[in-house]
Amino acid sequence: AKKLGKNNYQIYTKSMNIMTLKDYYIEKELRKALENHQLYMEYQPRIDVKAKQVIGAEALLRWKHPEWGDVSPADFIPLAEEEELINQISDWVLESVCSQIRKWMDDGLQFQFISVNISPKRLLKKDFYDFLVKTTTEKKIPPNLLEIEITESSLLIMDDYVQEQIIKIRDLGVRIALDDFGTSYTSINNIKNFPIDVLKIDKSFIQNIDKDHTDRIITQSLIQMAKGLNLRVVAEGVETQVQLNYLENYQCDEIQGFLYSPSVTDQKIEQLFVKRNMT
Ligand code: C2E
Ligand code: CA
Ligand code: CA
Ligand code: CA
Repeated sequence: AKKLGKNNYQIYTKSMNIMTLKDYYIEKELRKALENHQLYMEYQPRIDVKAKQVIGAEALLRWKHPEWGDVSPADFIPLAEEEELINQISDWVLESVCSQIRKWMDDGLQFQFISVNISPKRLLKKDFYDFLVKTTTEKKIPPNLLEIEITESSLLIMDDYVQEQIIKIRDLGVRIALDDFGTSYTSINNIKNFPIDVLKIDKSFIQNIDKDHTDRIITQSLIQMAKGLNLRVVAEGVETQVQLNYLENYQCDEIQGFLYSPSVTDQKIEQLFVKRNMT
């Protein structure tokens, strides 16, 4: 801020204050939302490209505010991540997804995994591993039904401690996915240093593969690299058949996106697990 002229600095300060006030209200309401059952999970199918079958799903957090209506996690998760609140939310998400998996197992539903987004901030807290063990044990969840998605950008704060945690979590049988891959300048370093199972190619690459030669080459290379490293590779944000055709050609393992389905309620994903076939 020092480099800016006096006027610029004032403008900057002014807009920051407006943001802070808005953020303050969202945060305050989010705390209430946790207690008042305004949060719930939706599930977006993950499709095996070769088998053309729904094999699992990503759990995505939803917030229905009584006055504001649906609030996007893209808006409230970053706010929660600045506070301890993200830890409470992460634990609520993990517990509610594990309860759901238990119910689906009791109902005899067939699926290979459910993936959960966990903020690296939660992963960094000393008690995460114990909480994970406790929750999966209490709900009697085979850990291999659970996948944990960690966003690539936040891996910037990853260190020896986090690496150690990831190794312990994987030893349980829980899979680790690197989310939004390619969006951070540390991408290649991350796969070198962190033991992972799944690579999720960010939708920003996928959405232009039918138009942009560079994105096509990057996507193709990422898929090849993932395969060479024995990682399962998922393309996010697949919206068109043309995009799917490219990905099929490049032998991408899995896709996720609006082409097949957006996130849906638990009842709706149950139907997709039963129906299974994409067509
Ligand atoms: P993400 O983990 O990358 O999740 C994928 C996002 O892409 C979801 O947005 C999903 O609805 C959207 N999406 C799926 N298919 C398509 C498509 O074909 N086209 C487009 N344009 N979008 C597609 P959503 O649900 O709004 O979530 C936004 C972000 O909020 C997530 O990005 C994730 O970073 C965060 N988030 C969501 N749920 C949770 C959660 O339970 N815990 C944490 N820590 N973060 C969460
Ligand atoms: Ca704040
Ligand atoms: Ca994700
Ligand atoms: Ca993602």
